Amino acid sequence: MTATTCLMTALRCRECGREYPARATYSCEYCFGPLEVVYDYERARRSMSAEAVGSRPQNLWRYRELLPLEGEPTDGLNSGFTPLVRADNLARELGVRELYLKDDSVNRPTLSYKDRVVPVALSRAKELGFDTVGCASTGNLANSVAAHAAIAGLRAVIFIPAGLELGKVLGTLAYGPTLVSVEGTYDQVNRLCTEITTKARWAFVNVNLRPYYTEGAKTCAFEIAEQLGWRAPHHVVLPVAGGTLLPKVWKGFQELHQLGLIPELPTKVYAAQPDGCSPVVNALKEGTDIIRPVREPRTIALSLAIGNPADGYYVLKAIQESQGDGETATDEEIVEAIKLLARTEGIFTETAGGVTIAALRKLIASGRIPVDETIVACVTGNGLKTTEPLSGRLGEPLTVEPSLASFEQRAGALLEGAGA
Ligand SMILES: *Cc1c(COP(=O)(O)O)cnc(C)c1O
Ligand SMILES: [Zn+2]
Repeated sequence: MTATTCLMTALRCRECGREYPARATYSCEYCFGPLEVVYDYERARRSMSAEAVGSRPQNLWRYRELLPLEGEPTDGLNSGFTPLVRADNLARELGVRELYLKDDSVNRPTLSYKDRVVPVALSRAKELGFDTVGCASTGNLANSVAAHAAIAGLRAVIFIPAGLELGKVLGTLAYGPTLVSVEGTYDQVNRLCTEITTKARWAFVNVNLRPYYTEGAKTCAFEIAEQLGWRAPHHVVLPVAGGTLLPKVWKGFQELHQLGLIPELPTKVYAAQPDGCSPVVNALKEGTDIIRPVREPRTIALSLAIGNPADGYYVLKAIQESQGDGETATDEEIVEAIKLLARTEGIFTETAGGVTIAALRKLIASGRIPVDETIVACVTGNGLKTTEPLSGRLGEPLTVEPSLASFEQRAGALLEGAGA
């Protein structure tokens, strides 16, 4: 594709349908509905064949007809296209036939799903003439914005709530951004960032660049379909924080179906949230469209601790449209699920991944996800970043002095029957 094939035509209000030019705006002037990118699907249908996509570099831009850029991508050339792991060991434990893990715990460069959305936002920020980028983050977004801004040569000002895991804080500071720790919840951090956009011409990826940023999450669906041989799975389980990923994965599958790239769309999407912060799953269980914010999230899954999700309503809509469901996980269940995934598939995920696997397990055990269909669970972050809540909960190493005698004394049982 060349720079002249920009298929993004406008931004459109999701509620009233009014269209706007594709600038750094995110809500409708008339009804305050969120704006979403519109594409020329007729032209996309012509240039985006399975063969054409298959011949392109293995990064998130291989689906660029459906990504919101005017020119060439300038960032994220090593991001996306993460493994879709066939998880037979875990499938056996859970009693299902065909289970895959979309492993964004090894997305590059910062080991989370955020390495899909940030390159799209920063490439667009440069097109719109910004020199400073920022975000309100529960940790992984901070890591990703800091890293991609360093690569792109942009200034970064990043806002986090106080009390995040050390791995997330150091994994941001390492790249040299301005990091602002706010003594409050994520929702207060987000409100502060929204106010700052009225004072400074900064591109907050998940605030004023939100329409572009969120589109990057569709690549998760595009990759799953391509990696399954251009077919959509029956069930996809996804963690929900601000509500970007889940509705955009649903939209991604819908777009592929509309373009004829997948023959059928049998997919149901499922939300996974931690018990102590589950505003969307609560609404689902209560059968209401009104999401009651959780004022004080209480969970070890800090990356999902968003009490008032910006796109929670659209998470509900995607679940309803696809006839999916939702489930929550306690701190105990999160830790057990982290251990289960590591023990069966060799993947060490962060607390958010524990929420997803715990929810998957409960959805299967209760019969809401049937055992004989294709299931995908999205593992969105890496366990090395959230070690604090695991400390003391995984056992202790065997400690010995550096001598055979000491080893025999303390670990003699291991040697019995081990014959040399
Ligand atoms: C950000 C994040 C999510 C999902 O967040 P959304 O705002 O709902 O898109 C899931 N898992 C991890 C590890 C994250 O960092
Ligand atoms: Zn509107």
